[in-house]
Amino acid sequence: MDRASLQKLLRQGLSLAEIGKRFDLHESTVGYWARKHGLEAVNRAKHAAKGGLGREELEPLVAAGMSIAEIAEAVGRGKTTVRHWLKEYRLKTKHSERRREMASRATRLVLECSRHGLTEFQRRSTGGYRCLRCRSEAVSRRRRRVKKLLVEGAGGACQACGYNACIAALEFHHLVPAEKSFSLSHRGVARSIAKATLEARKCVLLCANCHAAVEAGVIRLIGQDPAHVQCRAVPDSLPG
Ligand SMILES: [Zn+2]
Ligand SMILES: [Zn+2]
Repeated sequence: MDRASLQKLLRQGLSLAEIGKRFDLHESTVGYWARKHGLEAVNRAKHAAKGGLGREELEPLVAAGMSIAEIAEAVGRGKTTVRHWLKEYRLKTKHSERRREMASRATRLVLECSRHGLTEFQRRSTGGYRCLRCRSEAVSRRRRRVKKLLVEGAGGACQACGYNACIAALEFHHLVPAEKSFSLSHRGVARSIAKATLEARKCVLLCANCHAAVEAGVIRLIGQDPAHVQCRAVPDSLPG
């Protein structure tokens, strides 16, 4: 209802019920619009007096898709009162119905996976469910694939001893620790390939043994450029 015509009718002294009849609307709907437009009804509706709310009063508002707060505003009563009477008449607002529906769609369910049998599934934000074990395997696969790319990009072998037998035993050592944005071990490779590649360029690729030796100071890395660094054993140091 537009403000101008509603205001005109209210100024003529028509009650909400009378205006409602003209527009084929319930008086509480008219009351809702009057409040929304900041207009005061000359003859406030009788139901403003405390007492029960009638089913015939609430039903059209629920049918119109109003929330409890909107209905409370329309009938000029508190939300608790409205909630009480809606429950009494078993009326449900669209909003509460939707919320109930959402809650009933559990985020986790036990379903049958073709690879893992009966197991937990997680609801996807895009709809449907996904096996949690399939998902974590996919994450591991991606991690291994990214690491393989990074290792290949760094020459594929330990820069100190040439070891290249097992990717899992090859590690990225930051040449300048201060330039380290994040570690490339574990979760680091879960980041975007572009970011991980940038980080790998700051690193020397070492096997786990040589990496330990570098950390212990038994092998010294000489040079500024990680790709062309020289690895020299410190003569009088003993691995310990
Ligand atoms: Zn699965
Ligand atoms: Zn090595």
